[in-house]
Amino acid sequence: MSTDLQFDPVRLPPECDALRAEVRAFIAEEVAAGTFAPDRPRYGDLHDRAFSRRIGARGWIGMTWPKKYGGHERSFLERYVVTEEFRVVNAPVRLHFVADRQSGPVLLKYASEDIKQDILPRICRGELCFVIGMSEPGSGSDLFAAKTKATKVDGGWRINGSKIWTSNAHIADYMIGLFRTSPAIKENRRHGLTQFLIDMKTPGIAVNPIYQMTGQHDFNEVVFDDAFVPANHVLGEVGGAWKQATSELAYERSGPERFLETYYVLAEFIRALGPNPDLRSAEGLGRLAAQLHTLRRMSVSVAGMLQAGKEPVVESSIVKDLGTIWEQQLPERVRELAAFLEPEEANTATLEEQLAFALKMAPKLTIQGGTTEILRGIIARGLGLR
Ligand SMILES: Cc1cc2nc3c(=O)[nH]c(=O)nc-3n(C[C@H](O)[C@H](O)[C@H](O)COP(=O)(O)OP(=O)(O)OC[C@H]3O[C@@H](n4cnc5c(N)ncnc54)[C@H](O)[C@@H]3O)c2cc1C
Repeated sequence: MSTDLQFDPVRLPPECDALRAEVRAFIAEEVAAGTFAPDRPRYGDLHDRAFSRRIGARGWIGMTWPKKYGGHERSFLERYVVTEEFRVVNAPVRLHFVADRQSGPVLLKYASEDIKQDILPRICRGELCFVIGMSEPGSGSDLFAAKTKATKVDGGWRINGSKIWTSNAHIADYMIGLFRTSPAIKENRRHGLTQFLIDMKTPGIAVNPIYQMTGQHDFNEVVFDDAFVPANHVLGEVGGAWKQATSELAYERSGPERFLETYYVLAEFIRALGPNPDLRSAEGLGRLAAQLHTLRRMSVSVAGMLQAGKEPVVESSIVKDLGTIWEQQLPERVRELAAFLEPEEANTATLEEQLAFALKMAPKLTIQGGTTEILRGIIARGLGLR
């Protein structure tokens, strides 16, 4: 059995407390000014350009990146605190979130110097929305089956084909996309895919909406019709994107956003219960709190390992697997516990509205960013079981 699996016993250091207080004060000001309401999951707009810029101005985007690219050279643990605080209050951070979490780190590693100088400071200022162009019809879990083609032409590449489920493509400035630049080879079926930086304003790119069960417009189909991409927008090695994907996944799969997306129902349930819950509710709450505490310790541990320069891909997959199942089941568990609340004793209107929303959006949680089955395959491999 592999001995590589390891959750380092990381704790948030004292400087995180001061940062947390700062973020909470900022959030309180924004809520008071009407930017968003913490007890309202994202019914309407999931993004807010002006809000993202204010977060950027506070230095809370690109926190771990080098100062020469607009970053702040702070730790992954400090970034953890900021992500957590914005997530538990349902703040509309969508505009910059993907760029901050994973596109920026990909550019830092694989983009040319002029691209880094141009784009990273704008991400840090909260000006840019990035999207992930991986999935295609027929290529979701099996990313390496991607067919959308980039063909070499004078000065760059021409792209033809389509991506699907592309979250935020309708508001995006850039995509980091995975395209086929040559056929797979017999010895390595993962060979032949290349990562590109795509300017979403390029002629030949059409974005078509796909609506969620909640009625929200979250993701899209993105169609490429001879779209031109300049040669310096290749990220990393032509044909070797499979070698680059793993570290991106550690960033994508381990953060607190992977178990806190339905947290609002727990917070509202606690409010509805009041200070003296009955024994059954207290027991149910205690169980949920203990589980949440464990997930949080694991996620903080991964942040600490990223800080230490490790690539905890298997540990991240475990956080995402356990975390997304937990957040998916949370509305159902709260619904069961809340069934015993006396309507005349507790105002449950907000809770009921939230539960109706959460139950409709919850199925996506264990699909986005890698399904449960795929994560378990990665974990099994990490444990030496397959
Ligand atoms: C809300 C949301 C947002 C998303 N945003 C983006 C985005 O921004 N960019 C992007 O590129 N993609 C995005 N996706 C797509 C997502 O990554 C894919 O849906 C996911 O990877 C699964 O791919 P698929 O839908 O093609 O399903 P399939 O791969 O066809 O899988 C169907 C079922 O078969 C199972 N399965 C597949 N292969 C195996 C296997 N080898 N072993 C065991 N079981 C298997 C899966 O677990 C699943 O249950 C998003 C998805 C959702 C739901």
